[in-house]
Amino acid sequence: MEQELLKIASEALKKAALNEEAKNFVLQNEKLFKTLKKAANRYIGGETIAETVSAIKELNENGFAVTTDFMGESIRNEKEANEAAQEFVNFARTVKSENLNSSISLDLSHIGLLVSEDLTINNLKIICEEASKSNQEVIISMEGTDRTDMIIDIYKEVLKTHSNLGITLQAYLYRTKSDFEDLIRLSGSIRMVKGAYDTPKGLSIPRGEELDKIYLNYAEQLLAKNHKCAIASHDSKIHHKVIELIDKYSPTNYVLERLLGICNEELHTFKNQGYQCRIYVVYGKEWYLYLCNRWAEYPLNLFRGLADIVE
Ligand SMILES: Cc1cc2nc3c(=O)[nH]c(=O)nc-3n(C[C@H](O)[C@H](O)[C@H](O)COP(=O)(O)OP(=O)(O)OC[C@H]3O[C@@H](n4cnc5c(N)ncnc54)[C@H](O)[C@@H]3O)c2cc1C
Repeated sequence: MEQELLKIASEALKKAALNEEAKNFVLQNEKLFKTLKKAANRYIGGETIAETVSAIKELNENGFAVTTDFMGESIRNEKEANEAAQEFVNFARTVKSENLNSSISLDLSHIGLLVSEDLTINNLKIICEEASKSNQEVIISMEGTDRTDMIIDIYKEVLKTHSNLGITLQAYLYRTKSDFEDLIRLSGSIRMVKGAYDTPKGLSIPRGEELDKIYLNYAEQLLAKNHKCAIASHDSKIHHKVIELIDKYSPTNYVLERLLGICNEELHTFKNQGYQCRIYVVYGKEWYLYLCNRWAEYPLNLFRGLADIVE
């Protein structure tokens, strides 16, 4: 019964996230906007670079590395893709001038993937170039299965000239077995996630013990080889097992990674025990969609949202 209710809540929140009418209503209604923003604040660094800088500084001072993403995806015209790329460049410049410890994370569909491959490659190179001036990494997020091939191809192409590039792989996809074997031979860093998108039938392994085992197997290969990697999960069980692997192999090139506002207390504990931890900070004005997605993936977070609104 409880599981059924959580599933219904999750479906409803996914629909709310995609409902343009609901989104516009929220954004135009001052009271509703302010109320929901209180719940969103837990998950975002701010709406602008300036606001986000102070959030990053605080995390850095507390011993966390940070990776930062300017929220947005699925841009369908060149002008907006170029504007998003420019925002990432501005962010990279700020990291340098403010001496922050933050890499960049981005969706390729935010900087042109749905417009053209050439545009995306060009924008990605410009961002990597700027980021390299302060030794920052640029990590590509992984999107839906209709985009996986394009994302991997572009990653390989840009990695030839920009070594500060990394990619995210989704353990739930059957195809990841061969993508992983292929990409671990290259020098770029790999972020391992379980996978967030709905997929066509037969392409992915559902949540459960089998997926956890596969995820841990990828993590073990990365850690044993000391391949530069991020082990990104909110699953306490997974991170505890990964810590056993870190103790076994003593790698130096890893981070345990979580999104800002999600199970960060535990990451604090890991960091205090001496493990390298990174927090993924997002910023921008598209927080309504982001908030709905955080609630949809774990509807119990709605209660936290309620508490944040009331406080
Ligand atoms: C840094 C980072 C980057 C990511 N990048 C991508 C990407 O590029 N592409 C992509 O497809 N996915 C990405 N994801 C999402 C990822 O694929 C998973 O969907 C997400 O992390 C949930 O899976 P899980 O391993 O955390 O735990 P799950 O197997 O989903 O859940 C296990 C347990 O973890 C806890 N938990 C999980 N989620 C939450 C939550 N929101 N709030 C509170 N507790 C929770 C609960 O206790 C839950 O029972 C990213 C995740 C992180 C942390």
